[in-house]
Amino acid sequence: MDNVSKLMQCVDFAAIKHKDQRRKDKEGTPYINHPIGVAKILTEEAGITDLAVIQAALLHDTVEDTETSFDEIDQHFGAEVCGIVKEVTDDKTLPKLERKQEQINHAPHASYKAKLVKLADKLYNLRDLRRCTPRGWTEERVQEYFVWSSKVVAGLRGTNNNMENSLDDLLKERDIIV
Ligand code: NDP
Ligand code: ZN
Repeated sequence: MDNVSKLMQCVDFAAIKHKDQRRKDKEGTPYINHPIGVAKILTEEAGITDLAVIQAALLHDTVEDTETSFDEIDQHFGAEVCGIVKEVTDDKTLPKLERKQEQINHAPHASYKAKLVKLADKLYNLRDLRRCTPRGWTEERVQEYFVWSSKVVAGLRGTNNNMENSLDDLLKERDIIV
């Protein structure tokens, strides 16, 4: 199968899996906008052409946020893509605070490909928060999310200049020292 077909299979798979989900912004944007946007950051801003990275970006929230299993990802898209998705998937059996801390702890040990997806994911989410505050979030909660993200990003540095510079600009704007 050629690369374009492989990509479209991921877009289709993710769209079906996320079909009933919405983002937390006030407009309730369809959730699929997020993984597609993360993949686009990687191709357009980070200059990434590695197929497995873009596939993993499209699929990165399917296991965490839908009924998808790692076996399914493995069967459809192979071991490399599945491995990257696994690295960027939170363990939902852990309490939220521990999960947040795990991301900080795990970031420096992630593979290069997983670090790329994580950087693009953080960049997308911080831009989303900057664009519009989610329903029910206070300004303090938004700021806490930026501070937590800065700690995860600290462990991802030295991976991609363009994405790191864009993240730094967003963090500096909020007076977070990078
Ligand atoms: P959540 O994990 O609840 O929400 C953020 C996640 O939601 C993102 O990582 C993203 O994940 C997804 N998401 C969906 N829509 C959006 C959007 N429009 N913009 C950005 N992200 C979106 O947040 P946290 O629990 O991390 O809360 C943030 C901070 O606030 C934490 O530091 C926590 O301590 C604190 N907090 C405060 C509370 C309060 O009431 N004051 C309550 C709970 C937490 P994905 O990429 O997977 O889609
Ligand atoms: Zn995500």
